[in-house]
Amino acid sequence: MTKGDLKNAVRILRECSNFLIAGHVSPDGDCLGCMCGLGLVLQGLGKSAVLVSPDGVPDLYRFLPGSDRVVREVPADRRFDAAIVVDCEGLDRLGIVAEALPLCGRVLGIDHHSGGQPGLDLQLVDPSAASCSEIVVELLKEAGIKIEHNVAECLLTAVVTDTGSFRFSNVKPSTLRVAATLIEAGASVNRIARRIYETRSLSSIKLLGMALSAVHTTADGQIAYTSITRDQMALSSAADAETEGIVNYVRSVRGAQVGILFRECLDGSTKVSLRSRDGLEISQVARLFGGGGHRTAAGCTVERPLSETIDLVLDTVRKWMGS
Ligand code: 5GP
Ligand code: MN
Repeated sequence: MTKGDLKNAVRILRECSNFLIAGHVSPDGDCLGCMCGLGLVLQGLGKSAVLVSPDGVPDLYRFLPGSDRVVREVPADRRFDAAIVVDCEGLDRLGIVAEALPLCGRVLGIDHHSGGQPGLDLQLVDPSAASCSEIVVELLKEAGIKIEHNVAECLLTAVVTDTGSFRFSNVKPSTLRVAATLIEAGASVNRIARRIYETRSLSSIKLLGMALSAVHTTADGQIAYTSITRDQMALSSAADAETEGIVNYVRSVRGAQVGILFRECLDGSTKVSLRSRDGLEISQVARLFGGGGHRTAAGCTVERPLSETIDLVLDTVRKWMGS
């Protein structure tokens, strides 16, 4: 991402009036935080912005200012001067919303995955950024746009969630500087942490219990894994988004280099969440299955039943680790 790219992105913000803002399927805090933050910024500039998330806004993130404006589908017959796509490694991550991009005059991608989003008009990609919101803050700085407290709350939520509350290996001095900027602008780590981590639904805690009680390790202890079945999802009445974070407990088993959560989806496929300790680039494994992600946090969906997927992925990870 060059200074020239930032300047061109500022030009898009300034020159365009009607924006489509979109993020990935199964949105997380970074995706929704950036979408809502950008939506509020554009609103403040007197522009129109339609925020689309194909899977809506999980309850967990409904506290985000501006999240009530998020819709699931691109309104029919709308044309946009520009689209801003956040946190998507590849346009297939946009789901059905990708079909609307040809209706947009210009498409700006903001991402922190190493692959970026080839094919877009302009990309602000920085794989060293812990969250997309770091790049959004840089863009707003370049544009000379003051960060209001509601925007700051959205963008700090993105930092907090993508760094696992400032614990993951992606935290750098610049991450903390961005967080400081956002706190100075009125955001609060404590308020965000209370909403995300201290206000869990009873169902998600029960699901966590089920998942943790079923954690296994491979014989050599290098891989820790667990699974969640459709029946368990139904029994706990937890939402898909409430499985977020479970895999971090799995990785925390002493001696485990890799933690894996397998979740049986309603359509019979299996969602796989992979986490590694620093030094092991687990996204390589996710890519083998058509997924992707970051060095130590990656995922994919395998079109096979749960038990087959567990065997297949464990076997692949074992071979990949050379054990
Ligand atoms: P999670 O395991 O929490 O669903 O995802 C962790 C990270 O892996 C996400 O931030 C995202 O970067 C990536 N990821 C998860 N699922 C997929 C997928 O199906 N395709 C791609 N390209 N990336 C994924
Ligand atoms: Mn992200």
